[in-house]
Amino acid sequence: MRRVYLDHNATTAVHPEVLAAMMPFFGDHFGNPSSLHWAGREVKGHLDEAREKVAGLLHASPEEIIFTGGGTESDNMALKGVAYAFRDRGKHLITTRVEHHAVLHTCRFLEKTGFDVTYLPVDGEGLIDLEGLRRAIRPDTILLSIMFANNETGTIFPMKEIGEIARERSILFHTDAVQAVGKIPIDLAELPVDILSFSGHKLYAQKGIGGQYLRRGTKLPSLIHGGAQESNHRAGTENIPAIVGLGKACEIAKRDFQKRVAHLQTLRDRLQQGLSERIPEVKLNGHPTLRLPNTLNLSFLYIEGESLLLNLDLEGIAASSGSACSSGSPEPSHVLLAMGIPPEVAQSAIRFSLGWSNTEEEIDYVVEVLPKIVQRLRDISPLYRKRKKD
Ligand code: PLP
Repeated sequence: MRRVYLDHNATTAVHPEVLAAMMPFFGDHFGNPSSLHWAGREVKGHLDEAREKVAGLLHASPEEIIFTGGGTESDNMALKGVAYAFRDRGKHLITTRVEHHAVLHTCRFLEKTGFDVTYLPVDGEGLIDLEGLRRAIRPDTILLSIMFANNETGTIFPMKEIGEIARERSILFHTDAVQAVGKIPIDLAELPVDILSFSGHKLYAQKGIGGQYLRRGTKLPSLIHGGAQESNHRAGTENIPAIVGLGKACEIAKRDFQKRVAHLQTLRDRLQQGLSERIPEVKLNGHPTLRLPNTLNLSFLYIEGESLLLNLDLEGIAASSGSACSSGSPEPSHVLLAMGIPPEVAQSAIRFSLGWSNTEEEIDYVVEVLPKIVQRLRDISPLYRKRKKD
């Protein structure tokens, strides 16, 4: 059976060049970078080099990059770290209703431990109102945590404007950039962001590795105590193969940036246009232009996204009905509901997220197969029958 993978916001395959870069670190270069002897020194050099490559992609300094066990850990470090460090100054945090659960559930935990969190609403395209953000700030606000780009819709938030508001009010600004890194330009020399979380497996490195940018001078306590690794920000012997792979993935993302973005956007638009032309009553979820180049979230009215996914899977097409973590749950996506999308429309949503290895031929296959599935499901949909009668 033909296999087409259009779920790159859930995870990506390790890039062949990344895998090749990692391999020596399982064998020849096995040392512990904290060891003083040759085996350790040699590996330490590669650790430093990987940090430089990550910093290079983000326009940061290598000392501002900390390697972690992934995006979820980086988000936890940011929120719990700021809460702990600044709890004497205030106990109020601001985030949005459309964050990933890595942020939302950390906020829920903080609420249980005495912090107060404001969850900003979003508009129909998934953006927050900046005046609403200003109004939400209180004298005891210690952190804004607002994602760079949404994992379900791809909507991109105005980082510069949000960061400037944080600066004006001397509040730290964290952004979950797990979906943004490698897909859109990020210049931390320019952007007023203090803490940024990212993850390896969304940009063709392996799972279970990620990182955090911590602007010079920003002090956060470590969540994991032990050795002095990662400048005392995260104890534990470094996962060297994964870190080297992440460095390589960032180097490739920088090298191939223009080419990748153009490719993704062309394919994404081909998919959107092809499906919209062939299927009536399809609705785009997310911002029409301020959107990740690889993400397309569409509601196919009157049918269940889950049924659509299962039928797509039977044809070898992998997509998603919301965030991977909540798939399997009958609840419509919290992101789409927060955008004011009616539950039945949210429930009919499918997210297609493209990657560098997708081809035009694959997109054309989806455009050929999907309309037939939609028609079949609509033919047996009571909602659709009712709609036709009305
Ligand atoms: N934040 C966002 C926006 C994500 O999309 C994800 C993963 O889906 C995460 C955080 C969690 O990252 P990780 O899987 O590396 O823990």
